[in-house]
Amino acid sequence: MKIDQFPKDIQPYLIPEPKGKMFYRCLKCGTEFDIQELLYTCVKCGGVLLLENRDISHHRITGNTWHEIFDYRRMLNVQPLKGIFRYYEFIAPIIPLDQIVYLGEGHTPLVHANSRLRNLVGIDFYYKNDGLNPSASFKDRGMACALSYLQYLARKKGLSGILAICASTGDTSASAALYSSYLENTVKSAVLLPKGKVTPQQLSQPLGSGARVLEMPGVFDDCMKVVELLAEQYNVALLNSKNSWRILGQESFSFEIAQDFDYQVGDKAVVLPIGNAGNITAVMSGFLKFFEAGIISTLPWIIGVQSEHADPVYRYYLEQTPAKRHFTPVDVRPSVAQAAMIGNPVSMPRVIELAEKYNQLAGEKRVHVVRVTEQEIMDSMITANQNGNIACTQGGESLAGLRKALDEGLLDSRMIGILDSTAHMLKFATFQEKYFEDSFEPAFEVVPDPNLKNAPVQLTVEDQKPSPQPGKPLKGREMDKFIAHMAEKIANILHLTKK
Ligand SMILES: *Cc1c(COP(=O)(O)O)cnc(C)c1O
Ligand SMILES: [Zn+2]
Repeated sequence: MKIDQFPKDIQPYLIPEPKGKMFYRCLKCGTEFDIQELLYTCVKCGGVLLLENRDISHHRITGNTWHEIFDYRRMLNVQPLKGIFRYYEFIAPIIPLDQIVYLGEGHTPLVHANSRLRNLVGIDFYYKNDGLNPSASFKDRGMACALSYLQYLARKKGLSGILAICASTGDTSASAALYSSYLENTVKSAVLLPKGKVTPQQLSQPLGSGARVLEMPGVFDDCMKVVELLAEQYNVALLNSKNSWRILGQESFSFEIAQDFDYQVGDKAVVLPIGNAGNITAVMSGFLKFFEAGIISTLPWIIGVQSEHADPVYRYYLEQTPAKRHFTPVDVRPSVAQAAMIGNPVSMPRVIELAEKYNQLAGEKRVHVVRVTEQEIMDSMITANQNGNIACTQGGESLAGLRKALDEGLLDSRMIGILDSTAHMLKFATFQEKYFEDSFEPAFEVVPDPNLKNAPVQLTVEDQKPSPQPGKPLKGREMDKFIAHMAEKIANILHLTKK
């Protein structure tokens, strides 16, 4: 719809102008920094940063008006407002619209679980399929924001050839490489991967986008240390979620849930895997922003999920008394939720601060972390996908986490779950293959449930009988016999009855 076709009173709000007063705030010492520099950590104390907006003029707009603005923007054909920047005022309202990078990210579908799956789990729930983003994971939300900011900064300062670097469990690098390749000469990307710890599909993505791909021994946490040192000592732009511009973009996940449920989220429980903890940071922050602006009136439950093989956040919250909590990184073990296989999450200080604020504003403890086994993750992923979903292993972890939260009485079965499938199942097909072929290395501790296994059936022809070969098709009677023979075998296997 064209702008002049919208109601007169809503027109002035539809195309936003940059007017935010954004700054970085250090979570450790409170120092604030100007956003005209790309910072990853506090210059004074090394603490983790978050971006905030001093301009709160958008708080003068009522919640109801916001509902209308967002709903009308849905119908607006303005390219930069089609993705995560539909919520412009709540993301990065300093970036001019013509510098926003949009590759089709965001607005991923909420798919209602079918009744068989709902009955099995014992609660009503939806999957939000973030695997349907351009590079097939939720990381595109954050990358769209970070690269838009980089483009804005580059134009403002006349920079080109910015080298963007990231460490990755697979999806950050796929996304960083995709978005950087779009920016031609402004940004070039290099990605650092733990060798053998990303799937072949994930490795093919940055290669295909033309990024420099570097593989090193170790796990993600080791790669992260290397890129942190590089960002400290050299002129490179760090694209890990330590970069707080990424957190802003990822908040759109919460905004979309609010909008898609007509801003009624008080009975919802959002369940998501925790790796480096950027996602859960953004999800909490997003709901808090909408709550503080009066766009939602109640905060949903948030259930973070970790595998037994990479559970530092879960362990931290085991201690019930906040003053006695102490964060200790863990050494990770092989995990099918490989994208979340992180022992020392960079965003931990953000989680600690935001979870406390969240629970306080919710009036009760609504942020919880549960722990699941590798077996539960795999069984849940396969079960979800046998019911019309396209969950990755981390999406399986979300379902396993929902079940755990119900078992532990953290959730009421009258609530509605919203499960984050953080990536597309195809990226993690190797784990499905290991499950179906019962070929998991012992360290994974996964034994396939025979009822969930699947394998192709090989149709063969008996010795000496001709079969078609590439470049050598069968002809005439031989072909007819071959087709009839195959059809008969299939009819037997599938127990077909004759018409
Ligand atoms: C990055 C990633 C995660 C973990 O998210 P964090 O923000 O690091 O906690 C989970 N699942 C997938 C598919 C990912 O790519
Ligand atoms: Zn500081």
